[in-house]
Amino acid sequence: MIERKPTRRIQVGSVPVGGGAEVSVQSMTTTKTADVDGTLAQVYALAAAGADIVRITCNDVAAAQGLAEIVPRSPVPIVADIHFQYKLALAALEAGVHALRLNPGNIRNETHIKEVARAAADRGVPIRIGVNGGSLDKDLLEKYGSAVPEALVESAETEIRYLEDVGFTDIKISVKHSHVPSMVESYRLLSERVDYPLHLGVTEAGPPPGGLIKSVAGIATLLLEGIGDTIRFSLTADPVEEAKAGRQLLEYLGLRERAGLDLIACPSCGRAEVDVIEVAGEAQRRLEEANLPIQVAVMGCVVNGPGEAREADIGIAAGRGKGHLFIKGNVVRVVPEAEMVDALLDEARKLVEEGVEARLAAADGVAEQLAAEAAEELLLIQGDANHSEERRARVAEIAEGAR
Ligand code: SF4
Repeated sequence: MIERKPTRRIQVGSVPVGGGAEVSVQSMTTTKTADVDGTLAQVYALAAAGADIVRITCNDVAAAQGLAEIVPRSPVPIVADIHFQYKLALAALEAGVHALRLNPGNIRNETHIKEVARAAADRGVPIRIGVNGGSLDKDLLEKYGSAVPEALVESAETEIRYLEDVGFTDIKISVKHSHVPSMVESYRLLSERVDYPLHLGVTEAGPPPGGLIKSVAGIATLLLEGIGDTIRFSLTADPVEEAKAGRQLLEYLGLRERAGLDLIACPSCGRAEVDVIEVAGEAQRRLEEANLPIQVAVMGCVVNGPGEAREADIGIAAGRGKGHLFIKGNVVRVVPEAEMVDALLDEARKLVEEGVEARLAAADGVAEQLAAEAAEELLLIQGDANHSEERRARVAEIAEGAR
């Protein structure tokens, strides 16, 4: 269990952030905000993929007008992303957004910031102080020479002071950086100094797989230390991928309940009796379509598959032209290899409907025996890679010689 650092709680529309609330997933639309239908379609897609909160740019008057139509029809709270023009923040508030993100690097006028804070307070709308290493306040860049963690944190603290000066504390903060160690250090530093909820992200992470790796490296490191209340993957990709990745990361870290499929598969090796990559790909596609919230294992061989994947709810292991279907490590059915994915889908649906006990009780009585025979046959052909007597003897011989 991850012990999370206590933070204050704020409310982004219906979604609580901080103060022990579940870590939430955010993403951002890539459409023109003035395109109301296109943006709403993307908001719905993001919500379906696991986004709890969606940010939308408010970069001109047409975008602010678009927000006025989008917000009441959105299935999730909407955050308006504001850069440079504080008046667009006021317009976004009028449009009914659930939160604002202000970039202190390019909205620098204290009077303007305080005016926005007062207007947000009137409506009970929180503000994210969104510091970004790539658009840091010029004065801080000069002072520190580059966007070092101390500079990012100072930018956030200055903005906090402006907001607190007018009694505004409905705040969450991000100090994003595209360099993972700097991002991690910035958040650690900030977390020591404030108890406002933190929004984690590696900025401009780039396209997958690099963007995913950077995001996971930064976000997961902090989450495992108990730091972070809401997260966003900034990928150069369809934002649906961001939402999915964010959601999955939280599930894998045990910070959110599994809402969808968790497919595990062996990496395959010389023992594999099927093309694991192909079978796993087909199984993933079809299981995702079926929207079953279970853990499924696709294993390349029956020798090691059922045992290694015994924690999975259900799985399939290949061997001697057959698919061996197992539930919690117990083989329940043996089917021709060509039907293994169909059988997996069928059994997965029944498992979700009827539960583990019922499906184990309905197991084919000879399945375990057939699997044991197939495994034995494969061991005879391939050798026992795990317990090879011959190899043990050779290792012992060499070790003796080394004395
Ligand atoms: Fe190799 Fe079988 Fe393990 Fe897959 S399950 S990695 S095929 S030994």
